[in-house]
Amino acid sequence: MNNADIIILGAGVAGLMAARVLNEQGISTILVDKGRSVGGRMATRRIGDGLADHGAQFFTARTKQFQAQVEDWMRAGVVRIWGYGWSDSSLKRTAPDGHPRYVAVNGMNALTQHMAATLPHIHVNCEIGTISYANDLWTLTALDARVYVGRALIMTAPVPQSLHLLRAVSLTEKDRAALERIQYAPCLTGMFVIEGDIDLPEPGAIQDNSKPIYWIGDNRAKGISQTLIVTAQADGLHSRQRYDLSDEDNLAWLQTTVEAHLTPGSRVVEGQLKKWRYAAPITTHPFDTMLAEELPLAFAGDAFGGRGRVEGAYLSGLAAGRALIEHLQA
Ligand SMILES: Cc1cc2nc3c(=O)[nH]c(=O)nc-3n(C[C@H](O)[C@H](O)[C@H](O)COP(=O)(O)OP(=O)(O)OC[C@H]3O[C@@H](n4cnc5c(N)ncnc54)[C@H](O)[C@@H]3O)c2cc1C
Repeated sequence: MNNADIIILGAGVAGLMAARVLNEQGISTILVDKGRSVGGRMATRRIGDGLADHGAQFFTARTKQFQAQVEDWMRAGVVRIWGYGWSDSSLKRTAPDGHPRYVAVNGMNALTQHMAATLPHIHVNCEIGTISYANDLWTLTALDARVYVGRALIMTAPVPQSLHLLRAVSLTEKDRAALERIQYAPCLTGMFVIEGDIDLPEPGAIQDNSKPIYWIGDNRAKGISQTLIVTAQADGLHSRQRYDLSDEDNLAWLQTTVEAHLTPGSRVVEGQLKKWRYAAPITTHPFDTMLAEELPLAFAGDAFGGRGRVEGAYLSGLAAGRALIEHLQA
């Protein structure tokens, strides 16, 4: 049995931030995540002889708080600026819009590894199957029968997954309704190893939100891969329409769009598909975190606060940690 003041389900950006806030106040935490490593949608994969980010591609900082954090990460050498905007491919060179687009130096996952490095008690490869609340204690049981017990709980999985895990817990109707309103778009992502070269506008990506495949990014130009690996991502509408087609069909569809940008004589030598069922929130909760009405339970993640994305997840984790500190001290 593993005991802590607070159990945090999900070691993505939100869960890692919540753990940091709580540990700084001397409150013990255990982070559990079903992934092979921390990071969640900050995902980087080895493919061929290179690396590809296949979840978040870059991030921006619109609030002072997150900007200060990004500057810290830059000083630590884990984050750098990739560019100042993207071309929709109608221009060879991107017209900078003045807003930095940040990337993690060794791939997005490395940033979350950096965030995790100073935190105690992180259990990966740990998929929670059931959650119950009785006698003022939460009990989380993993599929491999490991058991976690805490006085309070923070849920940072995509909300439909959190609701499923909490099916045996009596949330108020108001809480359940607020959570059920939150919805996500899926994303089909292809990663392609290229022999030869690709012709993408500086600094090495196309973003065109009017196209079904709205993002094509060169992981070598981004600086995370020695070899040319390209990531292509489909928008929510087309990802949903195509979600249940075969992987072969979807990979071929993504590949055709990438091939249109290859230089003569170049070719795709390997492709891999990742299907994200919950890639990005499309309806969000108005506040950075949501405390359950009658239980020591907080919800956090990019679906809280209305910002979405990496910055939203970061600020939400921070808010959930702080809200539970207040709750436990009350
Ligand atoms: C394809 C794609 C492209 C994106 N592009 C961008 C971008 O360019 N810029 C940007 O800012 N953002 C982007 N994002 C969004 C960004 O990645 C997310 O907003 C952010 O990483 C969310 O962090 P989180 O902590 O809220 O959730 P997550 O990272 O999803 O963390 C939740 C964690 O919960 C864990 N979990 C779930 N169920 C269980 C269970 N039963 N037991 C144990 N653990 C469980 C998961 O393994 C996961 O690690 C993109 C996302 C995707 C998928």
